[in-house]
Amino acid sequence: MSNVNGKSVARGVPGAHGQDVRDARGSNSRGRGSGDFVFDMRSLGRSPGSFRDETRTAHAPEGLGSGLALVPAGADVALDLRFEAVSEGVLVTGSAVAPLTGECARCLDPLTSTTEVSFQELYRYLPDPGEGEADDEERFLDGDRLDLEPAFRDAVVLALPLSPLCREDCPGLCAECGAHLAEVGPHHGHGAATDPRWGPLRQLDVSDRVED
Ligand SMILES: [Zn+2]
Ligand SMILES: [Zn+2]
Repeated sequence: MSNVNGKSVARGVPGAHGQDVRDARGSNSRGRGSGDFVFDMRSLGRSPGSFRDETRTAHAPEGLGSGLALVPAGADVALDLRFEAVSEGVLVTGSAVAPLTGECARCLDPLTSTTEVSFQELYRYLPDPGEGEADDEERFLDGDRLDLEPAFRDAVVLALPLSPLCREDCPGLCAECGAHLAEVGPHHGHGAATDPRWGPLRQLDVSDRVED
């Protein structure tokens, strides 16, 4: 056992072939390290140069994004990955396509779309105890298991639009009445009254003073 980031990590379990991943799915399917994103690296055999391609549909973890744009928890995420053994660990290169739901930042209409992210991450073999420091920025293999979820999460959160739009040229809402400008047309207006805060003043007779 060694301790990384306060989490106790079991090194490879001999004789438990096929067991690790199922256990991870069962006991750890909520929270960190959902089994859907865990890959078994045993077949790479730690021989630099060997690689494996894998596609998989995983279920999106919770908490991916915020109100304006998010990947719904449990949504299908299409993963297309290559795992490549290098001397320090396993290099993962790939892409993920996930559905996106949210709200148009201008007109507040609900919107759905997809997001595609690509990533390349090095997962290092765990350093032996007492040999080097584990950097928080680095990702590590857990024995023969590679948990892609943190890398996937970081890539998606970076890719989420800050101001998603229902369409590129969404004209938004009328500032005065809230009408969808896309529906009421470009000539929608409220006469000279462009700012509702002037409404009360318009009822005053200020014509004398305005003449100056
Ligand atoms: Zn819109
Ligand atoms: Zn209006």
